[in-house]
Amino acid sequence: MYDVFTFGETMVLFQPEQMLPLEYVHQFPKRIGGAESNVAIGLTRLGHSVGWFSKLGDDPFGRYIQKYVRGEGVDTSSCLFTDQAPTGLIFKEQLSPEDMNVYYYRKNSAASLMEAADLKEEYISKAKILHISGITPALSDSCYEAVMKAIAIAKKNQMKIVFDPNLRLKLWSIEKAKKVFNEIAAYADVILPGLDEGQFMTGLTDVEEVAEALMGNEDKTIIIKLGEKGAYYHTKNENGYVEGFPVQRVVDPVGAGDGFAAGIISGILRKEPMEQVVRRANAIGAMVVGMSGDIEGLPTFESVERFMSPDSNTRD
Ligand code: ATP
Repeated sequence: MYDVFTFGETMVLFQPEQMLPLEYVHQFPKRIGGAESNVAIGLTRLGHSVGWFSKLGDDPFGRYIQKYVRGEGVDTSSCLFTDQAPTGLIFKEQLSPEDMNVYYYRKNSAASLMEAADLKEEYISKAKILHISGITPALSDSCYEAVMKAIAIAKKNQMKIVFDPNLRLKLWSIEKAKKVFNEIAAYADVILPGLDEGQFMTGLTDVEEVAEALMGNEDKTIIIKLGEKGAYYHTKNENGYVEGFPVQRVVDPVGAGDGFAAGIISGILRKEPMEQVVRRANAIGAMVVGMSGDIEGLPTFESVERFMSPDSNTRD
């Protein structure tokens, strides 16, 4: 048995240290970028066992990604390598603290070749929770089918399904994204949209109405991320707003949602009361935005507990 299975595309991320148009940048530090591997790494830091699957290019970048994720303690033994397509790449261009552009080189990448047959029930069904991000079904038709197979395996084996929409309109059309998000949401036990994503899925604007609509008549947990304001949770028996933690300086807003998801899943595995679960997820989101990079700010369980304690000086 292990705690969580997740899968998706991780790319090699080239993010220059200087704020310059990319055509004038000469040096690119190499990192990795991928929502599902961020969640996987976040969960291992919090003390959980995680299996992450991807199809990687049989190239140096594919090997680099596998070594990196494995080095963080995630089980990558189910990953496959293909010589049919290269590992995807992502370049970030920072023109000012507020102005950031992303350039993907991921079309027809190795990960977009993931297909239903790659997912093995024997491996996935040993996890307690399936984490699905809305990026994976956007990669290709075969990736969408892989997502639906993972959901079928989870349902058959009484696993909880956690769905983070992670809307990326560079990858697919608005109509298709909306249809697929609502299809996956119908199977999910826990849904973690940002307010904009919840509004997109339901066509409603008010936070509480969005949560109610996403829940429908079923026993689901809906947690709506509200950026610096924190989050709103809604279950069959309770609901409430949980305030965010103040951050002195937002260094890099990207990755907060993935850290938040890791915090929620960790709290569910620990069977904690929902308010406490959301509070820790808020703290992790705040810690991630205070540091450059998606993974760098992900805390251990002890460090997030310290950050949340009333006499913490780590927030100064
Ligand atoms: P991402 O950019 O990673 O996709 P997201 O849009 O999914 O993020 P956000 O709402 O930006 O999600 O952030 C997730 C959580 O992180 C928030 O609910 C909040 O708890 C925390 N958080 C994000 N930004 C801040 C901030 N500026 N100050 C304090 N907490 C923050």
